[in-house]
Order: sequence, then structure tokens, then C-alpha cells
Amino acid sequence: MTTPTDTPARIPGMRAAAPTVFVATPKGLAIIDTVAVDRAINGAPAALTSDEARMAAHLALTHGLARDVVAARVGVCERTLDRWFPTEKPRTPVVCGTRQGYDRHKRRKEDACGRCKAAYALAYRHYRTHGTYVGAPALTDTEWETAA
Ligand SMILES: [Zn+2]
Repeated sequence: MTTPTDTPARIPGMRAAAPTVFVATPKGLAIIDTVAVDRAINGAPAALTSDEARMAAHLALTHGLARDVVAARVGVCERTLDRWFPTEKPRTPVVCGTRQGYDRHKRRKEDACGRCKAAYALAYRHYRTHGTYVGAPALTDTEWETAA
């Protein structure tokens, strides 16, 4: 009779006929050592190339392994994992009184409200002097009250 063990079930690696496979990626062909990928995702030490690490991380995440465990097993930091496989993050809603609010009014083909016009004017003033909207000041309540 067998007893259940505490170790998680073995994650199946890539099903390939050969220990080395070529995988088409947007950047060209990647050469993947399937044995190294299989060892890495099951916790055995393995030296992986960047392409192999990405493939191993994909397989491990698909099988529900925690992101920190995956990062440790494939030898990349969690930020790299987040860059490779971004998680869905909630979007911040666009509010009136910002340049984005002004842009939303324009996208909806409606007249911008006063707060949005003032915020856009402030941001555009910054754009004319600096050539970018990056770092443009936001419209504050006191600026809005003095403008109105
Ligand atoms: Zn508005």
C-alpha cells in the first residue's frame, strides 16, 4: 500500500520526441533543451538560457505553481516574471479635472467640462515650454477655484 507524500505532483515537461527542440518566437528561433526545462520546473538544479527559462516559467505557471516558486526554480527575479507574463491589473478610472479627462471628452465627441478645460490648459502650458506632458502639473482645487 502506498502512502500519500507531501511533495507536489511532478509537473509534466514539454512532450517532445527529442531532448532539444526549436521553438518559433517573435524574435526568431529559440533552441530549447527540454530536459533542462523539465528538471527546472520540478525543482532540480538546471542551467537555463533565457528562452528556456521563459518556456519553463510558462509551463510552471500553467500548472498553477506560485509566482515566487516559479521565479526561484527558473532562476529569474519576480519582476522579470511580471514582465514576461503580466497579470491583469485594474485600470484607474479617468476623472474630470485632468488632461486624461479632457481627452476622454474629446474621444466621446462631447464638449469638455470647465475643470477638464482648465486642467488641459495647465498641462498644455507645460507642454509648450518643455515639449512633453511628462511632469505636467495637475489641476488642484485651489487653482480651479481661483480660475472660476
Ligand atoms: Zn470633464
